[in-house]
Amino acid sequence: MARISPLAIAGIALIGGLWLAERARPLRRQTHETSTRQVRNIALGAGTMLVVTAIEMPLLKRLAKNNRHGLVQAIPLPRPLQVALGVAAMDYAYYWWHIATHRVPFLWRFHRVHHIDPDMDMTTALRFHAVDMLVSLPFRVAQVVLSGADPTILMAHRRFFDASVLFHHSNLRLPGRWDDSLSLVFTTPKMHGVHHSKVPEEMDSNWTSGLSLWDRLHGTLRRKPQDCIDIGVADRASLADLTLGNSLLAPFRATPEPLPSGNVSLR
Ligand SMILES: [Zn+2]
Repeated sequence: MARISPLAIAGIALIGGLWLAERARPLRRQTHETSTRQVRNIALGAGTMLVVTAIEMPLLKRLAKNNRHGLVQAIPLPRPLQVALGVAAMDYAYYWWHIATHRVPFLWRFHRVHHIDPDMDMTTALRFHAVDMLVSLPFRVAQVVLSGADPTILMAHRRFFDASVLFHHSNLRLPGRWDDSLSLVFTTPKMHGVHHSKVPEEMDSNWTSGLSLWDRLHGTLRRKPQDCIDIGVADRASLADLTLGNSLLAPFRATPEPLPSGNVSLR
């Protein structure tokens, strides 16, 4: 009988635990029919995972195996600190890449597909365009080369990143002040909910995907009660683009003009 690795068990436990917890303690009221939305998100995620598994990870693993330069290679540190520094450096690089995906019109075409989800839950973490993974490949290569990540650091970062992305997109209301306390170190569901707001100033905040430190460092951390957040993208096509076909085609059509401020809700 094939053995299941402890990491696979941890992954299944995280997904199963979050799935149950989202139902027991929802953070935000869902505004759209959930099952159709989730099926579309999972279908988009399947395409994304195919590109990551077939192209991105084999390329990055080969790069990491032969990585002899970059930040962690240049600083002599005990091994655990070297791994921590490598993961933190890769996480910091992603902070800037995330900003670029909003600021550069060509990159926003693809990242918009993620943001048009009108509700957020764990499946929103899967809602990325498969071509987005190809478009972000030069960044991923630079992220590995500049950080100096070796295979251990690459995989440690990937597991931390994937777990964090599932967690902070989840519709999970943590008990008491847990969310606020956790946000001292990590990106939390309440933090990332603000980034998914239709209001431009709110979307232009909370860029981190792992450690919240980068938002604190750059003054881009913003808090807001979740009941007051209108999630999605304020343009006329965002709801029509939710279907699987339109989500796949949207980046190759002209990006719709943003609605004027004060008219962000189409519900
Ligand atoms: Zn974003």
